[in-house]
Amino acid sequence: MLAEAEQKLGIERDLAHALANGELAMHLQLQVDQRRQPVGAELLMRWRRADGSMVAPDTFIPIAEASGLIVELGNWVLRQACEAWLRLERAGHSLPLSINVSPAQFRQPDFVEQVAAVLRETGAPAHGLIFEVTEGLLVSDLDQTIARMHALAALGIRFSVDDFGTGYSNLAYLKKMPLYELKIDRSFIRDTPNDVNGTAIVQSILAMADHLGLRVVAEGIETAQQADYLVRHGCPCMQGYLFARPAPLDEVLATLGAAQAPDD
Ligand code: C2E
Ligand code: MG
Ligand code: MG
Ligand code: MG
Repeated sequence: MLAEAEQKLGIERDLAHALANGELAMHLQLQVDQRRQPVGAELLMRWRRADGSMVAPDTFIPIAEASGLIVELGNWVLRQACEAWLRLERAGHSLPLSINVSPAQFRQPDFVEQVAAVLRETGAPAHGLIFEVTEGLLVSDLDQTIARMHALAALGIRFSVDDFGTGYSNLAYLKKMPLYELKIDRSFIRDTPNDVNGTAIVQSILAMADHLGLRVVAEGIETAQQADYLVRHGCPCMQGYLFARPAPLDEVLATLGAAQAPDD
């Protein structure tokens, strides 16, 4: 336990300097439609420490959230997303980019103004961004959360519920919020199409999203069987290692360029 606490402290201490030291990078993971054509990408943070070792987001993001560092990191991610969108656009690929927005970041009193400022400064359009929020954000301060989401939606920002189905939220919020999309959590995809519980949940989410007019992205697709199953049940968008791994923007641009080659 002591070793674990020390490790956490070390991560927190180093993370505070990681941004200034140039140790953080963004990777993009393409999302595809039923014909496997790119329709968007999610930005995922990567941290390579000075000693060369990688720290997984599942390890450092919770520490950044607990220490408040996530606000600074989140702002950096937002700016990175705007710059990546502009580079993709200039290369002829107009794809919405999804970023993960932490509750602590979203709850900053001036969050809406910060977003508006970054859009203004970079020149990226709000419709180029999708904010992924988790159900954790949606269970507390509901009125304030909804009001803030509407303010951001008025700018043109779209919202996605990440890891959908893993939280304990009241489904009634779905109708009150300006949502664009649900992301089916990887845990439900993992056992598809063999496990009855998994497939029941996937099909229920697809049906509900259809009724509510929301787009669905299934995440964590690793096998052709999973993809076939999702397409057969009408899932419009997919993200997973089967289609693309998270990669630096330069690599993603090369992939997109190659996919567009005349003979394709
Ligand atoms: P998430 O937002 O649900 O991101 C999806 C995770 O699934 C990513 O892990 C991605 O690399 C992984 N993934 C994608 N396709 C597959 C697949 O086919 N199989 C498997 N096994 N995994 C797949 P990653 O990059 O390690 O990120 C983990 C989590 O860390 C994210 O979950 C998100 O909650 C958080 N995170 C990452 N980047 C950021 C960020 O910039 N800001 C914030 N606030 N959170 C972030
Ligand atoms: Mg996400
Ligand atoms: Mg997710
Ligand atoms: Mg996740």
